[in-house]
Amino acid sequence: MTAAEEGNAGRFRDPKSWLRGLSAGEIFVRCPRCAGRASVRPDPESADSSRHDFWLRRRLSCLGCAYTDLWEAPRLANNARALPEFSGPNDPYFGLPLWLSIECRGRVLWAYNAEHLDLLEAYVSARLRERGQYMGSQTLVERLPAWIKDGKHRAEVLDAIGQLRALLV
Ligand SMILES: [Zn+2]
Repeated sequence: MTAAEEGNAGRFRDPKSWLRGLSAGEIFVRCPRCAGRASVRPDPESADSSRHDFWLRRRLSCLGCAYTDLWEAPRLANNARALPEFSGPNDPYFGLPLWLSIECRGRVLWAYNAEHLDLLEAYVSARLRERGQYMGSQTLVERLPAWIKDGKHRAEVLDAIGQLRALLV
C-alpha cells in the first residue's frame, strides 16, 4: 500500500467484491415456515469437496422453527450444472426474500449479510470513490443503481443501512 492509499477516511477504494463472492458465505433470508430469520449456507456435507462442487449445494436452516431445506444446482441438458443468478432482493438459491431488505426512496435496499452491509455503508458514506483498475466485469459497487450512488441520498441510504444492521442483532 502506498502512502497515497493510506489515511484517507473519506475515500472509498473499490475492494472488487462481487455478489457471487458475498454469496459464498451466509445469506440471511425470511423463513418460509415461520417468517423468522433463517440462513442459507454452503452445505456442510459438501464443504470439504472440490472448489467446483462448493457452488452446487446450499443448506437452508432456521433456528427458530428448525425448518431445513437443501438446494442443488439444476442439471442442464448438456449435463452441466446451472449456477444461480446472483442478484436481489431474493436469495439466489431458494428464491426466498432476503432478511436484510428495506424500502428506501420507493425502492428496495437489500443485502445478503453483514459483510455486504459494511461494503454498502463504506461506499455510500465515502465522499471520494475510486474505481480501481478494470477487471473485466463490473464489481458490486459499480453495478449499484444510480439512486444509491447519488450523493444527495446519502443520509437516507445510510439510515436504511442502519435499520438493516439492527435486524442482525
Ligand atoms: Zn422458521
